[in-house]
Amino acid sequence: MRQILVELRGDAPVSDQMAEVRHAWQSGRFNSLLIHIFSGLPDESRLAGIARELKDGFETAVVVGTMSAGEIRDGRLMAQGILVSAMLFEEARVRLLRFDGVMGREAQIGGAIRRALDAAADIRAAELLFPGTEMDTQPLFAEISRCDPEIQIFGGYTGGHGLNSRDHFVFDSEGVTYDSILAVIYAGRSLHIDVDKSIGWDALGMPFKVTKAHGKHLMELDGKPAAQIYEKFLKIDRKNHNNAEDASEFPLIVRQGQDERLRSTVHIEEDGSLTLHGFVNEGMDLYLSCGNPTNIVETVNRRLEAMRRFKPQAILLYSCMVRKSFWEDFVDMEMEPFARIASTAGFHTWGEILRDGRSGDLIEHNITLLSIGLREGDAPAGELPESRVDDTVLQGQASLIKHMTRLVFTTMGELQKAHSDLSALNQKLTVMAEHDALTGLYNRGKMELLIDDALDRSADRGGVTSLVMMDLDRFKRINDTYGHDAGDDTLRHTAALLNTSIEGWPGAQIGRWGGEEFFTLLPDVDEDGAMRYAAQLNATFNAHSFPEIGRVTCSQGVITVRNCRDYRLIYNQVDNALYKAKKTGRNRIVKADSID
Ligand code: GH3
Ligand code: MG
Ligand code: MG
Repeated sequence: MRQILVELRGDAPVSDQMAEVRHAWQSGRFNSLLIHIFSGLPDESRLAGIARELKDGFETAVVVGTMSAGEIRDGRLMAQGILVSAMLFEEARVRLLRFDGVMGREAQIGGAIRRALDAAADIRAAELLFPGTEMDTQPLFAEISRCDPEIQIFGGYTGGHGLNSRDHFVFDSEGVTYDSILAVIYAGRSLHIDVDKSIGWDALGMPFKVTKAHGKHLMELDGKPAAQIYEKFLKIDRKNHNNAEDASEFPLIVRQGQDERLRSTVHIEEDGSLTLHGFVNEGMDLYLSCGNPTNIVETVNRRLEAMRRFKPQAILLYSCMVRKSFWEDFVDMEMEPFARIASTAGFHTWGEILRDGRSGDLIEHNITLLSIGLREGDAPAGELPESRVDDTVLQGQASLIKHMTRLVFTTMGELQKAHSDLSALNQKLTVMAEHDALTGLYNRGKMELLIDDALDRSADRGGVTSLVMMDLDRFKRINDTYGHDAGDDTLRHTAALLNTSIEGWPGAQIGRWGGEEFFTLLPDVDEDGAMRYAAQLNATFNAHSFPEIGRVTCSQGVITVRNCRDYRLIYNQVDNALYKAKKTGRNRIVKADSID
């Protein structure tokens, strides 16, 4: 295959300017011809006229055109004009399909596209060129994604230069359209296509949760107007009508599970919502992001290396317009190395489309550089020379940006580490503040909170709460006889017995009140239930043999509370009951009067 690039000029007839393509086409070596027209001139009739003229002049050719936010010729951004890329294939076949009236019928059209792709013999890839950005792409893409997983799909959204462009049209020899999808089918057994994306934008700061969104409209993050992330962190004001330009420099990264993609902000609305390029769903995590020159160069270099090994005969580059405004005068830096591998043409898009090789999902991207390598037949022997991004041009202003972003990302990395260390420490402190170090049970402070809550709940709902205070009998003797360590072991052992004792008592909590005194909270348990629990615990102790020490008994006070929040009174009553149990011989249970 071969690619010939022609920059059309207004002063000469189109057919004269296509002489080199005609010559090649008439050589008889080629089986099919695919002509792309990339142009940022918002002149519908002129562009449609050129498409028709090319179609008349090269009858069997496929002619497809798109508005562009920048034409890429030989890997360089062209001065605004009309670029023609003619790809001549020896064996492969190309075909153009046009799907009309997509808006409002996205799911049906998606199904029609899928059927067309599945029906095409020897199909290798499909290129989709989209006009308007208003389509509901979720059902559309979901349907297309169901086609044969072997089919590669790539493409882009069209739109003119400048963020205020309304020229979202694509065209072919039948004219321009703002509401149709053009699909180029690439077929042929000997055709090889290698397509991938490069990004290099990094998340900034902390994540936000999408709490209200509908399609491409993002209303709320963490329950607050979404515009706040631009206003608070970047001072980009919703009342400034040119806010889109500034906001587009800081696109959003959305994450759902492992999946991560970028979303450009098209506009910050007066009502505090954001209009995005591409949908978001509620529950997604979202970050502000910014281009990281170091990361961009590394990512593109990796892609260049893969492309070099693939040995393409022609390359298409579909690059997001945000990359153009990010790099400004340096945008050629990341595109030009592709042209050193093979002839390279393409355009700056208003969004990119790529099928994920693993999941088979067709995904709408922003901020990516899509590079599509094409080759007919096996790769020739031998190695192509290395081609890498030359970032030595980043001097002066651009170098400052490079170093500043490096500073930002390094600082952010350290802050994030500090933040996660701190939250780990916080978690540890919370555990320490609520638990008793010796037994691991809740401590008295935490128990009091739990008891308060339970009393409030039962008072509110007309329910019932029982409390059991337990004290080991003659514990001092254990210490005196076997030593303090054996005493500690006994306390730990007691905690284990208590943990088992509450199994089968829903919502029950246990804690160490102090010394050898323990508390059990039994929500929704009445007098009978509480007495049964205490009896069961008493039996457990009597049946148990503590290591080295043997039998240890306990005394218990039990109280049942209905409508009372006076916990001091409650503690006094249950403590008195426990005291009575001690006084009357230990190893027993005394019920305090219920409090209503
Ligand atoms: P009674 O049957 O009347 O409850 O007698 P008792 O000996 O169990 O009660 P007393 O209040 O006289 O003694 C409690 C002892 O518990 C005194 C204290 O040294 C010991 N003790 C308190 N906390 C710990 C601890 O964490 N570890 C150990 N080993 N002993 C403790
Ligand atoms: Mg005791
Ligand atoms: Mg005691």
